[in-house]
Amino acid sequence: MASDILRQTYGLEGRTALVTGGGSGIGKAIASCLAQSGAKVVIAGRRADVLEAAAAEIGHGCAAAPLDVTDIAGLPAAEAAIAERFGPIDLLVNNAGNTLKKPFEDSDMSDFDQVFDVHVRGALELTRCIIKRLLAEERPGTVTFISSMTAYIGQPLVHGYTISKTAIDGAIRGLSAEFAARGIRVNGVAPGWIDTEIFRKATDSDPARKQKIMSRIPMQSLGTTEDIGWACAFLAAPAAKYINGQVILVDGGGATGF
Ligand code: NDP
Repeated sequence: MASDILRQTYGLEGRTALVTGGGSGIGKAIASCLAQSGAKVVIAGRRADVLEAAAAEIGHGCAAAPLDVTDIAGLPAAEAAIAERFGPIDLLVNNAGNTLKKPFEDSDMSDFDQVFDVHVRGALELTRCIIKRLLAEERPGTVTFISSMTAYIGQPLVHGYTISKTAIDGAIRGLSAEFAARGIRVNGVAPGWIDTEIFRKATDSDPARKQKIMSRIPMQSLGTTEDIGWACAFLAAPAAKYINGQVILVDGGGATGF
């Protein structure tokens, strides 16, 4: 029943979605929200066992496709294999991510590369492969990048991460302008502080840090992974058909501070 209403509201029936990093955390919730909204969902990541377990948990016919977005040379073939096996992708969510915490003075370019390879180079090459097929088959589609509130407020020690998310925000604006007239919308969702395993690991042993973070969130609570998932479902939905080139901050007001 709930899924009937969600399918009617978001209207993603007949659409096929690919969510990178869909085996865990925010990506798993995005995949679940898209699947509940009627999309056929494929989740991608490097660990086949994690993906299989997540796909079973998500249900609604969710499928797993092992994929490393940093294997740039292999991405065209990987995209073709996914299209062959599950059908062409209409809705792409570039969610796969990593981070590296290091003082700027101790960092070298290879530290930045580790983060850029996933968030920027991998996401853009996969996007290029998906968009190429959409254009060739004259099908409409959406691409949603997962950015971060960090790109808006800045944070110490995670410069590669912050710069890579800022780069993606620029790509969203450029790509949205380039493909709008051909039926492809490109947007982003920028999560704030979300209640994930990573957040818990980073703050459970540091209550003062957690308190400082909480004091910056006007809504006085962490976001949930589903808060990000529903924003992604909305951006992929027909209801968002005039939204293009935008990054929606889902942060409880955290970027504004107070
Ligand atoms: P997780 O670490 O839980 O998930 C990251 C996912 O990305 C994993 O499933 C991982 O799967 C996948 N991944 C990593 N590297 C690759 C790769 N090379 N190829 C394919 N998949 C890869 O993180 P979150 O759920 O917290 O983060 C998801 C996104 O949300 C990221 O883009 C992150 O920057 C963003 N974000 C998160 C926030 C938070 O509070 N958690 C806040 C703001 C933004 P595997 O290891 O199996 O490959």
